[in-house]
Amino acid sequence: MPEYEASALDAVIARRVAARHTPQMYPARYYFLNASEVSRIARRPIDPPAPKRYLGFDRITQSLRHIAIAVNMTMRARFDIDPLEVQASVFGGRLHIASNFHAGRIREALHLALTDDALMSGAPRRPAREDIRNWDAMVMSRRVRDIAKLRHHYVDGRGLAGMRAAARAEVTAGIGRPSEGALPVDSTLRQLDDAFDTLSRVLQDAARAASTFDDLVVHTPMQDGTPKLPLLPDGVTQTMHAEQCIESAIAQHAAPWHCEAVARLDLPADALIVVPMAGRFVPCAACAEVEAQSRTQGGLFDPANGKFVLHRSSQRIGMAFANEVQHIAQSTLASTPELAARRAQVIAERFVDAPQSLRAYGQPVVPDYSLDTESESSGDES
Ligand SMILES: [Zn+2]
Repeated sequence: MPEYEASALDAVIARRVAARHTPQMYPARYYFLNASEVSRIARRPIDPPAPKRYLGFDRITQSLRHIAIAVNMTMRARFDIDPLEVQASVFGGRLHIASNFHAGRIREALHLALTDDALMSGAPRRPAREDIRNWDAMVMSRRVRDIAKLRHHYVDGRGLAGMRAAARAEVTAGIGRPSEGALPVDSTLRQLDDAFDTLSRVLQDAARAASTFDDLVVHTPMQDGTPKLPLLPDGVTQTMHAEQCIESAIAQHAAPWHCEAVARLDLPADALIVVPMAGRFVPCAACAEVEAQSRTQGGLFDPANGKFVLHRSSQRIGMAFANEVQHIAQSTLASTPELAARRAQVIAERFVDAPQSLRAYGQPVVPDYSLDTESESSGDES
């Protein structure tokens, strides 16, 4: 582990937990860990779990995952850039996409993913049996299948009616319902239908030569007013992770976006709006910590607020990252800026001083990849 050269900024980083004063008066918190500090967050390595079936509302989550994979893969294959992670959500008639890096290329990547057939010929549809241990071939082949499913269902419209009917039947039967049944079935079904409609509309638009991307919202890290550190030591990056970018934007537009979402579906003013979230990876240790806090104590996704609930199809927690300044989506943590700043401080201090108190501590982790796995038998075909 190289030690960083001394500089003015290193003094800031050396404090590990730090705050930048924002125009809003309350400081924005971030933290930083080196590799040996990350290794203090003890985990239980496990093999990738068996493929799972995505049922009910999770069928939406699965499509979001495929969108994230499509954007991620296209950025690497066509632009030679690495977003590291892409996450997507759909609610209120809009598709939201964010990436840790290179968010400015998301629209272009989505368009190519849905239209460029050369992307699909770069890998076999299915790995040969002897290649099953070849991770790269398997992952590549799976990604191509994921993109093919997106085109098939949403751009060509084939099999979508059947998939929607299956999802409705499952939700009605109590299977794959978001937020442990906190929402009435009728409200869940309306939101489910609206999510399928929105994905169809946005992806069909994205596939056109003259896409308008009207209902696609792209989120760029650190454009929510969180101040960036002006200078970083060599080898150190800074970002707010993709899901936290989307969640931070929701927090900052909570009242109007919630109003729009309930109005378009003719739901009561205090109806809970489901925010499904998925990417290629399960949330990392930092995002899992922030999301868990945002679900309670008046945070953005506390059902007691009568506004939004966060829906993920997996409870698993991914890795923690070293040598990356982690900016925290502070506005998701509480209803007042003062309390939010205090809770962000607590999270930052856990990572630096009390790893044993983190949600990720002692939890199983899939080493290296931490893929939110699935397979072609995962039940999304109708
Ligand atoms: Zn993360």
